[in-house]
Amino acid sequence: MSKVLVIGAGGVGSVAVHKMAMNPDIFSDITLASRTKSKCDAIAESVKARTGVIIATDAIDADDVAATRALIKRVQPKLVVNLALPYQDLTIMEACLAAGADYMDTANYEPIDVAKFEYSWQWAYQDRFVEAGRMALLGSGFDPGVTSVFTTWLRKHHFDRIDTLDILDCNGGDHGQAFATNFNPEINIREVTAPARHWENGEWIETPAMSTKVAFDFEGVGPKNMYLMYHEELESLATHLPEIKRIRFWMTFGDEYIKHLTVLQNVGMTRIDPVIYNGVEIVPLQFLKAVLPEPASLGATTKGKTNIGVIATGLGKDGKEKTLYLYNICDHEDAYAETGNQAVSYTTGVPAMIGAAMMVTGTWAGAGVWNIEQLDPDPFMDMLMQHGLPWQLKELDGPVGF
Ligand code: NDP
Repeated sequence: MSKVLVIGAGGVGSVAVHKMAMNPDIFSDITLASRTKSKCDAIAESVKARTGVIIATDAIDADDVAATRALIKRVQPKLVVNLALPYQDLTIMEACLAAGADYMDTANYEPIDVAKFEYSWQWAYQDRFVEAGRMALLGSGFDPGVTSVFTTWLRKHHFDRIDTLDILDCNGGDHGQAFATNFNPEINIREVTAPARHWENGEWIETPAMSTKVAFDFEGVGPKNMYLMYHEELESLATHLPEIKRIRFWMTFGDEYIKHLTVLQNVGMTRIDPVIYNGVEIVPLQFLKAVLPEPASLGATTKGKTNIGVIATGLGKDGKEKTLYLYNICDHEDAYAETGNQAVSYTTGVPAMIGAAMMVTGTWAGAGVWNIEQLDPDPFMDMLMQHGLPWQLKELDGPVGF
């Protein structure tokens, strides 16, 4: 029985609070706060209609540490679940330390004015969380999140050593729009337009954005082109599992998405530096976000499935070299029927609920800043099975040849 404060009322926040409300034995008291309170109220109404549970709502600008500290002091949660944007990670961590609460998020901190993905800023809080006797769990979404849990579970139960790891993120959903992103467009486009980087033999190999394309046949979806990209869990996995010689991240994109993105990039619409328009400073990417469909609005029309997983090759516990593929398939329409949100929000919001459950029940405990692969994967894997993201394990003939 525990009190949680969730910050952020987008698609991910919506799924997480619906799933928390479906588990009242774990989450006895839920408050949802965000910049726009009406979005929290709409989610609270849906939660009440679907589960009968009443959640409290509040308005907060989480860029404001003092205001966030005051909110945490007032609500008195054991845990603050940050489902706002990566820009708010550090201010919410500060507020948690100041008010005395544990912290969890699904995406690593990024400064708003430079697309730079690294954990250094959040890892720098290690000593302060230890001294305060508080826990911070970083990256409890799907990727980062489940993909790292999948990796440690494979290492614990199937491998004596993992040599190579590929993370494959496929969204086979069709929302019927010419161009839209399935999560926050600004974050999505910053991620996709950044140079690709992967870890190989102790160093980062950088290649131009979207320049390495491979076709892969995804169960439940079919063949798709996937692109080599940088993704934040590469850094934490390379740090915490240094035996892995090569770690890569792949994401699928349709040709239409690539075509639109290329044009937007070429005309300067994905720039994150301010330009002056009619005497007013605007950031092109933020303006673009304002004219694109809200990810939360795509739920009703999205059909198809996601398939996200990891392929690991190494020395099996039976002494033989082997390749295992561990993945989850999630259906957009099923996700929407259950929570009113499509599968990209669902596959992030469910692991956010599970990470929060691990922390409030004390299943995962310890002062300091943790990445998810540092913790025991077993209870998390059990909850994935029970709460809507069942996983499947398959042996492949050999390492995938790409
Ligand atoms: P949305 O843009 O749909 O929602 C973000 C929410 O945060 C909105 O309600 C927004 O408010 C609110 N917000 C923004 N700034 C502030 C602020 N300063 N103070 C308070 N609230 C604020 O994003 P998603 O729900 O799609 O994503 C949420 C998070 O999940 C992001 O950090 C994203 O990177 C992460 N994510 C992680 C994934 C993973 O697998 N690990 C996958 C997908 C997403 P408003 O409505 O007023 O704008």
